[in-house]
Amino acid sequence: MNSLTGKTVFAGIAIGRIKLHKKETGVVRRYKISDIPTELKRLETALDKTDGELEALYNKALSEVGESGADIFDVHRMMLKDQDYLDSINNIISGEKVNAEFAVAVTADNFAKMFSSMEDEYFKARAADIKDISERLISVLKGGAGADEASSEPVILAAEDLSPSETVQLDKSKILAFVTKYGSSNSHTAILARTMNIPALIGVDFDEEQTDGAQAIVDGIKGKLIIDPDGETLEKYKKLKQEEEEKARLLLEMKGKETVTKSGRKIRLYSNIGGTGDLPAVLENDAEGIGLFRSEFLYLEKDNYPTEEEQFDVYKTVVQAMAGKLVIIRTLDIGADKQIGYFDLEKEDNPAMGYRAIRICLDRPEIFKTQLRALYRASAYGNIGIMFPMIISVDEVKKIKEIAESVRAGLKADGISIGSVELGVMIETPAAVMISDDLAKEVDFFSIGTNDLTQYTLAIDRQNRRLDNIYDPHHPAILKMIKTVVDNAHKHDTWVGICGELGADLSLTETFVKMGIDELSVSPNFILPLRKTIINMQ
Ligand code: PEP
Ligand code: MG
Repeated sequence: MNSLTGKTVFAGIAIGRIKLHKKETGVVRRYKISDIPTELKRLETALDKTDGELEALYNKALSEVGESGADIFDVHRMMLKDQDYLDSINNIISGEKVNAEFAVAVTADNFAKMFSSMEDEYFKARAADIKDISERLISVLKGGAGADEASSEPVILAAEDLSPSETVQLDKSKILAFVTKYGSSNSHTAILARTMNIPALIGVDFDEEQTDGAQAIVDGIKGKLIIDPDGETLEKYKKLKQEEEEKARLLLEMKGKETVTKSGRKIRLYSNIGGTGDLPAVLENDAEGIGLFRSEFLYLEKDNYPTEEEQFDVYKTVVQAMAGKLVIIRTLDIGADKQIGYFDLEKEDNPAMGYRAIRICLDRPEIFKTQLRALYRASAYGNIGIMFPMIISVDEVKKIKEIAESVRAGLKADGISIGSVELGVMIETPAAVMISDDLAKEVDFFSIGTNDLTQYTLAIDRQNRRLDNIYDPHHPAILKMIKTVVDNAHKHDTWVGICGELGADLSLTETFVKMGIDELSVSPNFILPLRKTIINMQ
């Protein structure tokens, strides 16, 4: 038995086998083979398996994002069966007597170059698809993790680190817990782990060899990873896990109740989501609306800009699922730790303070307008709020409103119906706090992003794990800022919520309610504990 310590990102107990999540290095070795028929058979088996994976991905995408998002996997299946592509791989294996992985890599390179050099934009774009299916096929040939994960039992996933885009692509139903060596508790990967409602630890110094495949316990309450537990420890944790589950059952009594203090103050309890996959948890935990839909995850999941139609499908799904309850969708907030290859963002020395979020949207209005069109179209199906991240000036808000108005007018002129939409801004920079009095005159609501507000106020990079111990959202500067924002907002009848992680901190709930906060938006699993706390408050 070996007990290691780490930092808890999301509490809870998980018991199961560890699986190491290895990053694909992309290096394909070339080696000579002597038995060509066996190598060709190995290729054929891998092609079948890859086709099965693509079919499963098609079905998953179909249920999560609809037909338009799923289509790409159908195209990939067809490309995998393309005779020229298959002939090229077979010829390289037979002619050069080399391994199948190498033959696939060479073929992928040749075909991608050929597609890239074509005039037609459609064919140009196929270069990325060829690379994608080939990487998948190579991974299956190598017996890679991607190939096995679909069929394996749920596991404790151990990794050096996980990027937000890797995390969104994981099959959530197959993961019992996350354990990473690096990462910070304020990163978006950590936030995703909380939304997924699974125990997660960071900063655990595990040994790869000893860890992979081992039986283990993740104790997200005490921040421990116990590898190869002895019988007594295992029993103790099984009991603890049962007790935790019992507590969760008791909380369910809070379902359907109104979130109101004993003295009659009503607080709106909304949920943060990253995509349609989080909707079951939102409904199960009885959220009263969605206070933050991080729309950038839609962009992170794709290898090209999501079209207006694709975005519309997703927003409409969320709005319809919430059946008239308010759904606040935040416009694209990329940059910093959320990097997207196809945006071609330059490398920056200070990405958190760089070209990101609303700055990109105002600089590249065609991207912004596509998203706004999709949002306004979806507004006809329910109750939408749109909010804008990283605001620092009234001028920005005026520009945003002008663009939003032109999009709205354009849709109306086309005879497309639009519902009423509330507009809001995130208060997550000290500048926004200081001018909140003026900002409040411009918008319907504020949502305080305490994650970034803490980072910028305390001058602490939220990604830097060395500074995790002094990244303190309880700092009096932050609490005073929240109070200032609430007072300024209310002077102008603007309602105000918190959507940063601090909103879920039960030790501050009473303080926030007393300050006059109108709304708290948190990961789905924090809704019922918060309701219980508020109901028991004066
Ligand atoms: C925040 O900054 O508090 C916030 C909610 O946004 P994000 O964590 O996505 O930056
Ligand atoms: Mg933020």
